[in-house]
Order: sequence, then structure tokens, then C-alpha cells
Amino acid sequence: MFLTLTTTGTPERPATDLGFLLHKHPEKAQAFSTSYGTAHVLYPEADAERCTAALLLEVDAVALVRRGKGKGRGGAPDAALAQYVNDRPYAASSLLAVALSSVFSSAMRGVCNARPELPAAPRPLRVEVPALPARGGPDLVRRLFEPLGWTVTAEPVPLETEFPEWGDSRYVRLELESADRTLAEALRHLYVLLPVLDDAKHYWVSSEEVDKLLRAGEGWLAGHPEQKLITSRYLSRRWSLTRQATERLELVRLAEADDSEVEEIDNAVEAETETEERPTPLAVRRREAITAALKAAGAARVLDLGCGQGQLVQALLKDPVFTEIVGLDVSMRALTIASRRLKLDRMGERQATRVKLLQGSLAYTDRRLKGYDAAVLSEVIEHLDLPRLPALEYAVFGSARPRTVLVTTPNVEYNVRWESLPAGHVRHGDHRFEWTRAEFRTWARSVAERHGYGVEFEPVGPDDSEVGPPTQMAVFTLTTPKEAKAA
Ligand code: SAH
Repeated sequence: MFLTLTTTGTPERPATDLGFLLHKHPEKAQAFSTSYGTAHVLYPEADAERCTAALLLEVDAVALVRRGKGKGRGGAPDAALAQYVNDRPYAASSLLAVALSSVFSSAMRGVCNARPELPAAPRPLRVEVPALPARGGPDLVRRLFEPLGWTVTAEPVPLETEFPEWGDSRYVRLELESADRTLAEALRHLYVLLPVLDDAKHYWVSSEEVDKLLRAGEGWLAGHPEQKLITSRYLSRRWSLTRQATERLELVRLAEADDSEVEEIDNAVEAETETEERPTPLAVRRREAITAALKAAGAARVLDLGCGQGQLVQALLKDPVFTEIVGLDVSMRALTIASRRLKLDRMGERQATRVKLLQGSLAYTDRRLKGYDAAVLSEVIEHLDLPRLPALEYAVFGSARPRTVLVTTPNVEYNVRWESLPAGHVRHGDHRFEWTRAEFRTWARSVAERHGYGVEFEPVGPDDSEVGPPTQMAVFTLTTPKEAKAA
């Protein structure tokens, strides 16, 4: 089982940087033992112009069987011999993918402490896999890699070179080329797509695999035209897992379409409400209103649900009354930006114990969210389709159940005050709805009623006498403790 990665370089950007990126020195051949055999990393060529790293996996077929996981496809009754005599030692497959992720784990995450600037810089890359089992053949190989910007060569390997009339085997020789790629991207594509092509996992697929798939698929899977096939095969066609992954990917796709627009819209709203002195952006006013409401409620341990890029988390961290702040979002991209903004990796130990970022979806109940004083949903509900709102409602008010919940959302009535917004339009593309004050209040009161909360409303931003404020906020306070409600 064998794979090579090649890059070319110049004297300023030598190809041997590949050694830094992979965290494996070009002058040493290294061996790593994995649970299924030994992985070797060696460099057949390494100079400034061209550098190739090879990952060679020596699979111990017996160890594979001893672990009870080397069963042939479907565990056919005659698989006894096939357990020992099979293609696993030779073919690239999920074993190779696992080896990639364990031997090159930092590279896959795009981390390089010695040369922090390297991972983000795209460079020419070529990947070669001489024997890739590919169910679906060269055509599927192309359908999987081409949309990701790779130039693909996929040649079927004949069953027997001496007898071409026997036809092709199920293997292809794969070559991927790209003029500008980050190594992390390339590794994450391979990590997911090699097992997808092999279509036979060597281990039992559990719900953890959904997380792994989403992590490795970050930034490319949500928009991939073959996303369904990839997800279903990666999760060994386990229907419930596939559905979970598909739903989460859909949310990621929506959230990623979104992000950057938020502040833009706020600035536009601001242009309309300009006064003599420099106006405070609406987003800042929102954070001030939220902070004040949290303090008024005496909250110390706070959830920021749908935290986006972490601006509120950052603001709350500045105030020592907040002893614990947890940001949760469905978008890994937003969380990555949040983590950079907060400098989580450079934070002192004491600060670091006050803050946590979690990936998760508000469409599901989540035990990690129980036991906090307050939860904030700032400009989040309007990003969900209306039929999903009851699920969020249950996750927050029914399951997490903090004493205080703050919900902010645009007031659609205010949109007429915003000249740049064509009549009848929402503030940006990903808003599924925008409510009038009456609509928001009706919803909030019925939520409060169903879950034993009281609710009050506060304007955020200039409160126009006719159309109200640009942002509306509901402050929910728990009135019926859980025990009483259950009784
Ligand atoms: N709270 C931030 C960001 C608002 S944008 C602010 O006030 O600026 C909406 C955020 O909700 C996005 O970051 C999006 O990723 C997140 N989001 C959308 N649907 C979600 C869901 N089902 N679960 C968790 N987060 C979600």
C-alpha cells in the first residue's frame, strides 16, 4: 500500500519545505507502528527543485484478522481464507487513510510550529497512488476529484498484463495534480475519498465517524456535487449516520454562505441611522444590550449559541463577572475564525479555563449545554427554516434550560427605514424569515408558556416611533423550576 506526494520549488521556496509540512525530515527514513502494521515515510527524492515523500504501509494481515476486523466484504461464509489472503496489504484503502491521519496528523490540520506560515501557502502538488481500489472505476474517480480542482489521471489497471483480453481489475492508477494546493487540503481530500472509492471500511463505523467526516470535509464537502455518495459510502451506508451527516452539512453550507455578510449589513443599517458623531455599529449595540441584560440577570456562566466568529464571546471575556463562556456553532469555519480571534492557543491557563468553543447543531438536544445560568441566541433563529424552530426551541428551553435566555432577531418593520434595501427583501440572503414585532412576540410568548418561562422585550438600536428598533430582543426568565414542571 503506497502513496507519494511530490512538490516542486524554487530557491526561495524550496521543495524540501515538504519535510517541514509533513513534520518528517527528508534525510531520514522513518517507521511508525500502527495497529495494523508499520507505516514508513521516506523521500525518494529531496532537493530544492523537487521533493517526493512516500508513505508505505506494510499491513500485517494476521494482526488485522486478530483484531476481528479484517473480514471480507459482507463477511461471506467462505471468507475464512479470504481473511488472510486478500488485497488489503497491497491496495490503498481505509487503512491507508487511517495511516495518513495518524502519521501526518499535524499536516492534515494545517499546523506547522516550526514554520507557521507554510501550511496556508498553496504550492504545486502531485499525488500518486499506484493501486487504488475504485468501485465505480476511473469515471467515479474523476467525478470525485475534479470538482476539487485536481487534474486527474485515472488509468484502469489490467487484471493481467499478459492477457489484456481478461479485462481490467477494479484497481486504478491514480495521479492528481494541482498547481496551487495546500498540503492540508490534499491530505483531507485523500483521507475521505480513498476509503469512499474502496467502499469497504476495515473498522466498524460509529457515530464518531460523522464528526471525523465533517472535520476532514471542512471547506469542500458541503458544496461537492457528489456529496451524497461520499457521505453514504464513507459512513458504510449506515442510513441514520448518513442522514445526520447530510443534515449537518446542509447547515454548514448555509452558515458558510453567510458569515461575512453579517457585519456588512449592520454597517448598511448604520448608514441609515447616522447621527452627528460617529455611530455605534448595530452589532456593537447588540453586544452591549446583551451584556447588560446578562448582568442584570446575575448570570456568570453563559452560553453563546450560534456564536459565529466569536465577537460576543470576546466581549464577555473582558468582564470578570462572566466566569465561564461557551460558544457553540454549527460552522467549523466560523469556529476556526473565532478561535483565532480569541487567540485560544496563546491564552494563559486561567483565561483558557473561562472559555470553550464547541461545534454542534441547535437542531439537536445536547447534554453539553445543561447547567448554565444563561444562553444567548443573537441573530440566530432567523437562519433556521421555520419548521426547524421547534427543534431549537426544545434543545434550548426544554433540554438545556438555563435560567435566562436572550434572543435577538431583526425587526422587519424597520427595513423601510433602510433605503438601500429593496422593498420586501430580507437583510441578507441566508435569513429564512424576518419578523414584525408582533410576530416575534407571539412566538416568544408561546415558547415561554410551553416551557415555564416569563418573557419581556427590549429594543436594540434607535427605537423608531412608527416602526420600532432595528433589532428586537426577548429576555426569557425561568419561572417554573424543572421539578415543578415535571410534577
Ligand atoms: N451570534 C452571532 C452570529 C450570528 S450569524 C452574532 O450575533 O453576530 C448566525 C450563526 O448561527 C452562524 O454563525 C451560523 O453558523 C449559526 N447557526 C445557524 N444554524 C445553526 C444551528 N442549527 N446550530 C448552531 N448554529 C447555527
